[in-house]
Amino acid sequence: MQPSPSSASSHPLGAAELPEVLVLGTGGTIAGVAPEGQRATGAGYTAGVLAVDQLTAAAAGVEQVARLDLRQVCNIDSKDAQPALWLELARQVRAWRALVPAGGCVITHGSDTLEETAWALDLLLEPGAPVVCTAAMLPATALSADGPRNLFDAVRVAADPAARGRGVLCVAHGRVHAARDVGKLYPARVDAFASGERGPLGFIDARGLRFTRELPRHGAGRLASACDAAGATWPRVELVCSHAGADGALVRALLAASRSGQLQPALSALVVLGTGGGTVHEQLQAALDEALAAGVRVEVVPRNGPCEGGEFDGLNAVKVRVQLLLQGLR
Ligand code: ASP
Repeated sequence: MQPSPSSASSHPLGAAELPEVLVLGTGGTIAGVAPEGQRATGAGYTAGVLAVDQLTAAAAGVEQVARLDLRQVCNIDSKDAQPALWLELARQVRAWRALVPAGGCVITHGSDTLEETAWALDLLLEPGAPVVCTAAMLPATALSADGPRNLFDAVRVAADPAARGRGVLCVAHGRVHAARDVGKLYPARVDAFASGERGPLGFIDARGLRFTRELPRHGAGRLASACDAAGATWPRVELVCSHAGADGALVRALLAASRSGQLQPALSALVVLGTGGGTVHEQLQAALDEALAAGVRVEVVPRNGPCEGGEFDGLNAVKVRVQLLLQGLR
């Protein structure tokens, strides 16, 4: 059953009764540091420098919200993330839940691929205590850095029982987004994340946590068995785009490399960013027909918006790819 929108909630608890929250650090701009002389502007910063304990130390007051257990999973720029990170995070959350079933979890992450990790975790984790991803657009050294506030808010959401059973959430800039909907839609703004036409699930601010709309169908851990995949052999799922002049050359090159054994693993699926609601250039379509004949799965999605209805309802192309990767993991 899906939880319904709630009114504001907060934690009037004493220190001894504080909820427990696991914070998993993975890097990103939230852990970024700019060079001497550029500290305040953040220009030329390097992502994934500060350790997770330095991030929580900067989130003043967070110790009054929850008792934190801190773990550094990696410290990378999330543009360089690998799918193996999704499995590692899911395993850490599962192990934490086995020890502290009511304990929420926060993942500090780079903003670039946060939407991929969030959707992967939504598919990998059964509904339960809150799992909240957060990020920042300004490095930790910048004036008015957004990381400490985002982390503080993420812990508040993770510690709040009202956030239970809502799937994996993303918290940034006072908004709470569902993993299915969220995207880094405005990369030049500090409030970079949005949920498109659907809007955020709710808000976290001075009044507390408020959910303001029904949750879209979440991943519900329906690919949780991927966590136990024996060999962690990922299929090859590539993205191609339909556009003026799309002649299918990329698809044919992939097929040829697959056939010759040059491409390892061989191509197993294509996610096609179609024009409009999912139309495809006739020349690209001819190449896609060859791919289908060769046993490659082809999924066409709208290039400018989320899928509507069906298996991938609400997902953008990169999240469709995430889902196909997890479905094909062996
Ligand atoms: N490239 C950075 C990352 O994704 C961007 C960020 O975190 O805002 O790690």
